[in-house]
Amino acid sequence: MNADHETDVVVIGAGQAGLSAAYFLRRAGLPNDSGFVVLDHGKRAGGAWQYRWPSLKLDRVHGLHDLPGMALGTPDGDRPAADVVSEYFDRFERVYDLPVRRPVDVLAVRHHGDRLLVESAAESWAARAVINATGTWDRPFWPHYPGQETFTGRQLHTADYTGREEFRGKHVIVVGGGTSAVQLLTEIATVARGTTWVTRRPPVFHEGPFTPEDGRAAVAKVERAVRAGRPPASVVSVTGLTLTPEVARAREAGILDREPMFERITPHGVVWADGTEQRADVILWATGFRASIDHLAPLHLREPGGGIRMDGTRVVAEPRLHLVGYGPSASTIGATRAGRSAVHEIRQLLGLSG
Ligand SMILES: Cc1cc2nc3c(=O)[nH]c(=O)nc-3n(C[C@H](O)[C@H](O)[C@H](O)COP(=O)(O)OP(=O)(O)OC[C@H]3O[C@@H](n4cnc5c(N)ncnc54)[C@H](O)[C@@H]3O)c2cc1C
Repeated sequence: MNADHETDVVVIGAGQAGLSAAYFLRRAGLPNDSGFVVLDHGKRAGGAWQYRWPSLKLDRVHGLHDLPGMALGTPDGDRPAADVVSEYFDRFERVYDLPVRRPVDVLAVRHHGDRLLVESAAESWAARAVINATGTWDRPFWPHYPGQETFTGRQLHTADYTGREEFRGKHVIVVGGGTSAVQLLTEIATVARGTTWVTRRPPVFHEGPFTPEDGRAAVAKVERAVRAGRPPASVVSVTGLTLTPEVARAREAGILDREPMFERITPHGVVWADGTEQRADVILWATGFRASIDHLAPLHLREPGGGIRMDGTRVVAEPRLHLVGYGPSASTIGATRAGRSAVHEIRQLLGLSG
């Protein structure tokens, strides 16, 4: 099959990681379209941030690292992070004249002679290298517990959350030990009839400042996993929970008194191994996300350990493919750096470094 387009580099995804890569491709002097193109299936600029719930104000996010070459500045912290980041990314795409094509949903990446073929339903691109920057938002992770399908209340995932109002007067069980669970609990508890927090392991709250050394140690831990071909845990999941004043108040109010995992789900609630039952109207699964990389399946990259073996951002089994915003670089700071290092290696691969 002949490709519809030929280009040196296809970047898949226009979130923090993809835009960072695009910036460094621009700086390397690659022209739009014949040199590189960015394919994104979002409706507008903003990557996954455009989907974050409206009550996630900029002041409440972990910390947004700047894109390269353009500072975010100091926007109003009381505005929804979704709006602020979408506007910032949109400005970035225009200022650097980045060839972002959307909405383009990449369905498959395959071997294609000496190139990689990137396919959407309507078009295909034959590329000398591919930078995959598709994030995790499209793959919410739902664990399975016995009886789950019999629950007569509502089940939803963090990805479906739009605000606390729909939980007014209800009893809500929040499952998951990460930052999202804590943020959603503290919001929902202000209007719910009751909340129950359930986690697999006792949560670890980070008292005192989170230092750069802590960050480096967390990244190193995830890096070891992907070097060995194991699936990555999220960086945020290995950093622990930050004890902000808001979280401290929620703890004092008993909102963050955590229960261990229940054993099964009934039509009206959940039951623990000792027979204790909690009735509930809603189960909210704040159980995280997995890498959105199903479109890479034709390349058969999975190792026996279940992950993709990586060396930095490069896929060991397919050196023309880099994964950015994946594993150790799945944070805004990591994604920005990964874009730079992927482009550095791809320039060498394409003979462009001078
Ligand atoms: C609720 C939540 C809060 C977070 N808060 C923080 C924080 O405060 N600080 C921080 O550093 N990190 C935070 N993170 C992690 C954060 O998401 C990442 O750090 C970073 O924003 C991800 O950037 P990315 O470019 O890798 O992915 P995304 O922003 O997810 O971008 C991926 C892009 O790829 C596109 N795409 C996906 N699949 C395809 C496909 N098949 N074809 C075409 N396009 C595709 C998507 O449309 C999207 O635009 C948070 C994560 C979550 C879930």
